[in-house]
Amino acid sequence: MRTERRIPKRFTQAPVPKKLRDFLSDVGRLIAARDERTTVPSDDLLQCDQAYGGLIDGSVERYAFTFFPGEGTRTKWELQLSADEIANVADGKAPSLGLWACVNDSCGSMFWSEKESCFYCDYDDHKPPALRSTEFSTRRDWARAYSALHADSHPLEMIGAFNANPQLARTLGHFSLAEAAELLGEFNTGNKR
Ligand SMILES: [Zn+2]
Repeated sequence: MRTERRIPKRFTQAPVPKKLRDFLSDVGRLIAARDERTTVPSDDLLQCDQAYGGLIDGSVERYAFTFFPGEGTRTKWELQLSADEIANVADGKAPSLGLWACVNDSCGSMFWSEKESCFYCDYDDHKPPALRSTEFSTRRDWARAYSALHADSHPLEMIGAFNANPQLARTLGHFSLAEAAELLGEFNTGNKR
């Protein structure tokens, strides 16, 4: 499950990379020529190998683009530009774009609005723990469930998995190695029957 947890972004004047300027120059020429790709609303009628986008539905000469400034698609710029802004980038009048950047420097993604969300920075990933502490009333119950999921695991592995969830030790107390070994021996034998 992914829960949105937005981190405020930092306003940045981002120099326009040559690749983006070249792309927007092409787009500007298509707009000037009233090319259908710039007059029909779309997400991706306008493309190059590092960007795609199109006319925003219901807008007058306002375009949305996704630009990948580096290798791959991990880092992206989400842009919205008017036809005039595109022309200004194309002819060099606008050498940079005011964008909202992720504060995590290793991300590098930027957005036209501070209200946009980054897929990587603005969500928590919640992996449900395999064995939740609330399901068990004793260490023995937990060990039985663990051994059913992890056949032939070493007692120390089982203790490691148990201790990785502090809630378990708080509610059920700690395993001794002897106890873990004894329970695993019992349940592993039982599983094999
Ligand atoms: Zn980010």
